[in-house]
Amino acid sequence: MSQQSITIRRPDDWHLHLRDGAQMQSVVGHTARQFARAIVMPNLKPPVTTTAAALAYRERILAALPESAHFEPLMTLYLTDDTAPDEIRRAKDSGLVHGVKLYPAGATTNSAAGVTDLKRCWRTLETMQAVGMPLEVHGEVTHAAVDIFDREQVFIDEQLIPLRAAFPALRIVFEHITTSQAVQYVRDCSGACNTLAATLTAHHLLFSRNAIFTGGLRPHFYCLPVLKRENHRRALVEAATSGDPRFFLGTDSAPHARSTKEAECCGAGCYTALHALELYAQAFEDAGRLDRLEGFASEFGADFYGLPRNQGSVTLTRSPWTAPASLPFGDEPLVPLLAGQQINWRLGQV
Ligand SMILES: [Zn+2]
Repeated sequence: MSQQSITIRRPDDWHLHLRDGAQMQSVVGHTARQFARAIVMPNLKPPVTTTAAALAYRERILAALPESAHFEPLMTLYLTDDTAPDEIRRAKDSGLVHGVKLYPAGATTNSAAGVTDLKRCWRTLETMQAVGMPLEVHGEVTHAAVDIFDREQVFIDEQLIPLRAAFPALRIVFEHITTSQAVQYVRDCSGACNTLAATLTAHHLLFSRNAIFTGGLRPHFYCLPVLKRENHRRALVEAATSGDPRFFLGTDSAPHARSTKEAECCGAGCYTALHALELYAQAFEDAGRLDRLEGFASEFGADFYGLPRNQGSVTLTRSPWTAPASLPFGDEPLVPLLAGQQINWRLGQV
């Protein structure tokens, strides 16, 4: 008989978009119910480029939490061509900023202010390396000449390899990897190397790019980096379920109002904060590796970021339920991934 429940140490989400204002207030409770902590992405409008802005954002998140929540937002800064080394020191000294996010300019939602050329950030990256501030990387090149399905692989060759050669002690999280090449690159980081890790989303573990086109165009499966071929999905599942501590959980849950997803030019992002653990459990069960969910979800990420593992536990039960058709999101509806479809696992009380 198949396993009916699984109890794991309380997990964390190492890559999350919360937005701001009323929209953030609508969604933050979902994450707080699922996770003890989350690395909160800084791509607001305007982006969170200073420690002062990150700390103010943190206060807004804490104020928006449901009363019963025990949740700690882990803040990040948005790297620009102009981020000063002093800002990195301020961030480190705050004790509340845990990473700096690299968006190549134009790579994804609200990334127009991103880095145009890494060379412009050299002194800032040196400081990050010196003080031990991790760099979180959206690993895609943005030049129009590169096919959208190849942008991650080209980023490794053009940006990541030279970056790591120049800053061998800089701690880097290769975010939401989507290809077998990225898996291989992280694995090839050999020996005493504990400077490179990767996060994996639930949707990239569960779906290949066919999901975007099944019976028509499916905007709620459109995210960046875009879903890839089935052979890549299998490589991601293999990495996530391998027990290799360099691969850990990051949902990249990214809420967009329904009107901006079901639109002529649909925004990139899947909303999974509602049922993230349930989706990951499904992917691990499908691989016959539920026993490895705990390391991936609750241990390896904290270890990489040098934070204590959480106390307490959560239980997932095999108890099918139907994901809602939509959720409130400020004054608009938000469509979660797999809206209206059956989810096999359920977090918490049944
Ligand atoms: Zn993201």
